[in-house]
Amino acid sequence: MRDTAKMMQTGLGDELFQPTGASGDSAPPALYGGRCNSCGYVFFPPQSYGCERCGSTKIDRTELDGRGTLIASAVVHRHLDPARPAPFIVGSMELERRVVVRGLIEAGQDALAPGCPMETMIVAETRPDRGSTDIRFRPAV
Ligand SMILES: [Zn+2]
Repeated sequence: MRDTAKMMQTGLGDELFQPTGASGDSAPPALYGGRCNSCGYVFFPPQSYGCERCGSTKIDRTELDGRGTLIASAVVHRHLDPARPAPFIVGSMELERRVVVRGLIEAGQDALAPGCPMETMIVAETRPDRGSTDIRFRPAV
């Protein structure tokens, strides 16, 4: 997820997540999304090209709770990037305000089913020049 944000040069900040929950308590790490000031549409990842719904460029960063529901998941058996050893699991999660996020999942495929409660977790970044941490989803504990 971090790759995408760095390529987009959002102007809304490069970080996609924070180490703590949106309220700063023990909630799962919050994600940074974008919120349109004209129509209120909320999305992830943040970008400043314009609102997908109304086209406005008046977009602010907003925090998204790191909890959601699994929509679908798939096992990736081959990947072109050697820094991403396969197999791994990708999924689509619906967060608050109906924001859909795609991300990597840390779980066995048997633990996943559509509708499963999911939450974010911080992991150590293994790719060079990408900072020290990255984010994954897992079934909520
Ligand atoms: Zn809008």
